[in-house]
Amino acid sequence: MFLRRTTRALVALLVLTLGLLGAGYGTAGAATGPEAEASAVRTLYYDSSRAAEFAKVIDDAAAIWNNSVKNVRLQKGSPANIVILADDGWPRAQPTSLGSGRVWMGRQAVQQGYYPLRIATHELGHILGLPDRKPGPCSSLMSGSSAGTSCRNPNPNAQEIAEVDRKFARGVLNVERLPEAVRVF
Ligand SMILES: [Zn+2]
Repeated sequence: MFLRRTTRALVALLVLTLGLLGAGYGTAGAATGPEAEASAVRTLYYDSSRAAEFAKVIDDAAAIWNNSVKNVRLQKGSPANIVILADDGWPRAQPTSLGSGRVWMGRQAVQQGYYPLRIATHELGHILGLPDRKPGPCSSLMSGSSAGTSCRNPNPNAQEIAEVDRKFARGVLNVERLPEAVRVF
């Protein structure tokens, strides 16, 4: 009797856990079947209420990612997966798991002449699971500051886009733990 109740409780817990894991996925429209699965997108919410003068550039960076990748969407809202902060240090990101973490829009790089929109898309790239690729050319978003202050490319390249879409592909259980190391611009 006790065993059976325990088993039932465990099954209930498992169902609840799977339900929570799946909660991050929304299906567009009311389509069912394979089309519904293909159009499933994971939405990540960001909080830019403490991003000070960078709030607008964060929205623009989110729009760039949304126009580039198909398996994940960045949207302002709560509960936030991503918290954006502003400070006087060097821009950096601290991913905690795939799709969540903190971004600091450090003013130091902006004052040195680096392009704020490239900084913002780069740091969001870390939250989306991309590592730094330095030194690298301006065509690479994850080459960050190594491409120099003249580089004003805020767009991920085809390889970076494909990498993010692969990480957020439906069917992949997105519980990948990222090293909680701080990654800089
Ligand atoms: Zn970086």
